[in-house]
Formats: sequence, C-alpha cells, structure tokens
Amino acid sequence: MGNSREYLIKNIVEISHKLHAMGWVANHDGNVTVKFEGALLATPTAVSKADIVPEMILTLDMEGKKVHGIGKSFSEINLHLAAYKTREDIAAVVHAHPPFAMARGLINGGDSCGDFEIVAPEAIVSIGDVIPAARYAFPGSVEHEQIISEALSRCDVFMMAGNGVLSVGRDVNEAYLRMELLEHLLKIDYYAKSMGQVMAIPDEDRRKLLEKRAAAGLGPKGVHSSSPSPSPSSLPSPKSPGSPGHQKELLKELIAEELKKVLKEQK
Ligand SMILES: [Zn+2]
Repeated sequence: MGNSREYLIKNIVEISHKLHAMGWVANHDGNVTVKFEGALLATPTAVSKADIVPEMILTLDMEGKKVHGIGKSFSEINLHLAAYKTREDIAAVVHAHPPFAMARGLINGGDSCGDFEIVAPEAIVSIGDVIPAARYAFPGSVEHEQIISEALSRCDVFMMAGNGVLSVGRDVNEAYLRMELLEHLLKIDYYAKSMGQVMAIPDEDRRKLLEKRAAAGLGPKGVHSSSPSPSPSSLPSPKSPGSPGHQKELLKELIAEELKKVLKEQK
C-alpha cells in the first residue's frame, strides 16, 4: 500500500486541507505535486485547497502536460518542474503562502536581506542554518526557474519574493513539515525581535550542527549538473554583499591582513 497511487493521492488531499486549515492559502493559492511512476500527481487549478477531493487529482507528464484527470493544471507548474529537474532526490513539492514566510520574502524586494539565519540548534539540523529569500523574477520566466534551481541546490525549503514558500521532500509529508518548521521559526523570530535582540549561535556550534545534519543524511542530494545554472549574482547567498555571512568574511579578511602587518613589523 505504501507507495500506491491511491495512498499518494490521499496524502495530497490531506496536505491540501492542512494548507487551508493552517491559513497558508487563500482563494486558489498553493499547489502540491508528487512524483509517481515517471509522472506527476497534482492538485488542479481554480479550486480552494479546502475543497480538494481525490477525484480531482490530475496526472501530468514530466513536462507538466495533463495526461489524466478532469480539471486544469495550475500555471505555477514551472516551479515544480524546475525542482524535479534540479534534483533527483525530490519526490514531492509543496507551494503555499504562509504569512510569516511570505512577509519575510518581501523584505527589501527579496534580496539577501530577507535571508533567514536560524538560531535554534534542532532546526539547523532539520532544515539548515540559512534559509534563502530568493529575489523576485517574473513568474514562469527562465530567470525565475534559474533562481529556484539555485536555491534548491542549497536547501529544501525557501522563500520566494512575492510568492510565499517552495518546499521539497522525499514525500509530500516531509515537504509539508519543512514548510511548517520554517513558518513556525519565522513566527518565533518575529516575536523575539519585538522583545529584544535575538541571540547568535557560535560559529563552532553551527559547524557541529551542520555536520550532524550531514551525518543524518539531510540536505540537498542528487543535484543535476545539467540543471539551469544561474549567474552567480542572480540569487542571494549567505555570502552576498551586505549579508551577515558576507560581513563575517570581510571581517576575517581584515583581521588576517592586520595580523600579517603586525607579524611583519615584529620581524
Ligand atoms: Zn503562489
């Protein structure tokens, strides 16, 4: 039963209902796909996620064309196709508009200022230490696809400027839970910042947590070398100018320079 079509369809329906119950979608927002036998099972367009029933789930080919089902495919299918093209470990994609994460992705037009540095140790093991806020690009454009591809080669869940969150997993529950964790952490971050300064995690601890994450087999795998490779500047990275990572790098360089000078003077 574990991997049967009916079981996967039941999962998609349950996750669709959850997205609505959590308040992460309005109107026809959000979409869910799962890979099955070389095709995709997908939610249809123009239906509230609260009203999805098993009979509505479409079968699409890996180009996004409908091969079976009653309704129409959704226009954001390119987001999902870009994800499956980028990494072969991805078997499910969930897209929705959770309010805290959607808001965060809008900060400064979605440049690296919106990147979210996680300070909860357990969460770093689960979803990594920095969640990117991918900058805005016209939905469905080649540039947009490249931005998604770049982000997914670094993480399993991220914010898109103007378009909520894209989350991936080995199954639809894993993709959903990653989105749930990100939204939960961003909500806590919002409250914490209203109370005072948020703590930082020592670099050494961060490194150990990321090692633990790798040892647990978590993190992006099976990145296709043929996936669309964006220009280095097209996606904010933790090392983009102005980001905390970049500032840290600059500081390190400055300290190294100063050290060299002092050592020379002592000679
Ligand atoms: Zn959307």
